[in-house]
Amino acid sequence: MNIIVCAKQVVDVSEIKVDPNTNKPILAGVPQKISDIDKNAMEEAIKIKEKHSGKITALTVGPADAKERIKELLAMGADEGILIAQPEKLDYYVLSNILAAAIKKIGEYDIILCGEASIDLFSGQIGPRIAGLLNIPQITYAQDITAEKEKVVSERNLGDKAVTIESSFPVMITVTKEINEPRLPSLMQILAAANKPIHDWSAEDVASEKLEPKITTVDIKGVPMERKNVIYQNDIDESVGKLVDSLIKEGVLR
Ligand SMILES: Cc1cc2nc3c(=O)[nH]c(=O)nc-3n(C[C@H](O)[C@H](O)[C@H](O)COP(=O)(O)OP(=O)(O)OC[C@H]3O[C@@H](n4cnc5c(N)ncnc54)[C@H](O)[C@@H]3O)c2cc1C
Repeated sequence: MNIIVCAKQVVDVSEIKVDPNTNKPILAGVPQKISDIDKNAMEEAIKIKEKHSGKITALTVGPADAKERIKELLAMGADEGILIAQPEKLDYYVLSNILAAAIKKIGEYDIILCGEASIDLFSGQIGPRIAGLLNIPQITYAQDITAEKEKVVSERNLGDKAVTIESSFPVMITVTKEINEPRLPSLMQILAAANKPIHDWSAEDVASEKLEPKITTVDIKGVPMERKNVIYQNDIDESVGKLVDSLIKEGVLR
C-alpha cells in the first residue's frame, strides 16, 4: 500500500496574540507546528501500513524550516518526506495544483490522506481539490477507515449521524480529529528519523507551468478575547452552583 500524507506547517494558533489597537494577529515569534489534524492523517497512514505494509510519504509545501516538522512525521512512522519550497504567491488553486502535480510525480499511490482542514486557515479545500485534479474518488470527514485489499471502507462524520461508504483505490481521504489519537514517537524513533530521506523539490520541478493565484487575501483580523473576571469567593458548593448557572446562561453548558 503506497500512502501519501499531505501535511501543513502552521503557526500554533493557541499562541497567537491580537494587537488590541489594530486587531491584527501578532505572528512574530509564534512557534510552528504540524497542523493537528494532519497528525491524525499520519497516524491513520501508519495504522494502514501496519496492516498491509507499504510506504508512507509525507508531502509538504512550505518554507525551509518546515523540514523540522517533516522530521516529526518521519519519527512518527513516515518512510520519506518531500518538501516543496513554497512559492511567494499562493492560494488554494496554486497549492492544490502543486500538491496534485507532486503526487503525479511520486507516481504510485493507493491512498492520499489529508486533514479535513488546517488549523490556521481552515478552508477545507485542499483535499477535495487534489482529488478533482487527479480525477480520483474522495471520502471527506472520515472518522473511521478500514483498508481492505481491493477497497477502503470509511465512516464519514456528519455531526449527528455517520455515513459508511466504500471506494476503490486510488482514493483521497480527508480525516477528522476524532479518527484516532496520534502517537508520540519514542526517543529511538526520533533519532532514527535523522536517517530517513527528505527530498527538496521546487514548484517548477513538479508543475509544468507557473501558476498565478486567483484570489488574494485582503485582510486578516484577530478576535481579541476579553476575560469577564468574575470571581466566586463564598462557600465552595454555592460557588460551584453559581459557576454552573452562569455557564448555562452563557450557553457553554446545557
Ligand atoms: C506566504 C503565503 C502567502 C499566501 N497568500 C495567500 C493569498 O494571497 N491568497 C490566499 O487565498 N491564500 C494565501 N495564502 C494561504 C494559502 O492559500 C493556504 O495556506 C493554502 O491554500 C491552504 O489553505 P488551508 O490552510 O485553508 O487548507 P485546508 O484546505 O484547510 O487544508 C486541508 C488539508 O490540506 C493539506 N494541506 C494544506 N496546506 C498544505 C501544505 N502547505 N502542504 C501540504 N499539505 C497541505 C493538509 O492535509 C490539510 O489538513 C498564503 C499563504 C502563505 C504561506
